Amino acid sequence: MSFSAFAFQPQVSAGIKAAGYDTPTPIQEQAIPKVLDGRDVMGLAQTGTGKTAAFALPILDRLTKGKRNCVRALVIAPTRELAEQINDNFITLGRETRLRSATVYGGVGINPQIKKLKQGTEIVVACPGRLLDHIEQGTIDLSNLDVLVLDEADQMFDMGFFPAIRRILKHLPRQRQTLLFSATMPDEIKHLAQEVLSDPVTVQVGTVAPATTVSHALYPVSQHLKTPLLLELLQKANTGSVLIFTRTKHRAKRLGEKLDKAGYRAASLQGNLSQNKRQAALEGFRDGSFQILVATDIAARGIDVSQVSHVINYDIPDTPEAYIHRIGRTGRAARSGDAFTLVTGDDGAMVKAIERTLGKSVERHKLDSFDYNSPAPQKDREFARPPRQPNRPRKAAPGGNGKKSSPASANTTRRQQADQAGRPAGAQPTGVNRRQRSRRGSQGAASKNTL
Ligand code: AMP
Repeated sequence: MSFSAFAFQPQVSAGIKAAGYDTPTPIQEQAIPKVLDGRDVMGLAQTGTGKTAAFALPILDRLTKGKRNCVRALVIAPTRELAEQINDNFITLGRETRLRSATVYGGVGINPQIKKLKQGTEIVVACPGRLLDHIEQGTIDLSNLDVLVLDEADQMFDMGFFPAIRRILKHLPRQRQTLLFSATMPDEIKHLAQEVLSDPVTVQVGTVAPATTVSHALYPVSQHLKTPLLLELLQKANTGSVLIFTRTKHRAKRLGEKLDKAGYRAASLQGNLSQNKRQAALEGFRDGSFQILVATDIAARGIDVSQVSHVINYDIPDTPEAYIHRIGRTGRAARSGDAFTLVTGDDGAMVKAIERTLGKSVERHKLDSFDYNSPAPQKDREFARPPRQPNRPRKAAPGGNGKKSSPASANTTRRQQADQAGRPAGAQPTGVNRRQRSRRGSQGAASKNTL
């Protein structure tokens, strides 16, 4: 099939050419005709399948006709990185359409966004928290909206965004086209789909499985040997760009520093960074100045670096869906990639769940040259303590003691924290749901010692 089958406006076809796309991906083949027909669509597709263009192209096509200088398409995404990536897609694909797009998310000044919205933009790509701010302040007019896209809806649910989404929906015209994309279809997403979609068609690519171009391997190891094994792996494997995932932002930061000390061009991407630093880390990874990027799941949402050769799970993810998302960063658009996961004795249940999702068992590998029996250093043993219990309330820090402020410190309001993460105030602060948090509780203390 060729893109010409969709009979896009010439300006849109020019954008496809500029992006270098030859043939539509399966999700594009299925979704584009339905969106062009004006239908509501439930798209089941994981990241890396080309789903952004699957909605961006027909939206651009629709918007080339009709009113300008008012917001006609709104895309809601869970993180600012994903919002930027979607916006970049609109800019590339829409370069000949003279349509304008803007991003709206927290953690950066609101005034430049207000200015851009005032100047007139037809497409807005937003995270829910800041979008609500604009709605409440009356700095965005959504009364002319034609199309709403909810992207990565399952992730938005995990991040506690649904109350904000429901509030946003109240401010949108009822008469509109709605497209909802999600990698997985838990009950919560089914309910949301029933609420927001009208007579939808469902399009789905594959089951919940990562690109077949990715090969998977497990590396069993003790907690305290994760970093040495990782260093050995990096030396042995023929790695290009490597994306490493850790369970917490603290571990991402520490591991990034360790790799840097070991002589790698490494950066870390985690929620505590300023927007400028995040941008610098991402751009450095994209242009190759950093070979390794260490990230948490939340920070890594939307990372689109087409030439990632290896995804390494330093810590196993909390859910099989998160594994699929992580792995979606390699083997993109039919390039091949490797996915390594370091697993400890505690990870058995999650390994089984991942293997069930993949529909196959994953090979266990051992490095002959590595000393798996090396004892834990004394300080690690000192740290050993019973697993952290979930939801244990933290003691309030004594106020104004000049300590480095924690994310929950007095000088950061809940709303500000939410904005930093592109999350609505009142949502779960850590971006995990209760099920995930209690699972983490049993892993906490032991793995904390590794770095
Ligand atoms: P996405 O799933 O939207 O994050 O897209 C994954 C990657 O595939 C991005 O780098 C896109 O630019 C690229 N892509 C999307 N559609 C196509 C296509 N038809 N041909 C080649 N690459 C594509």
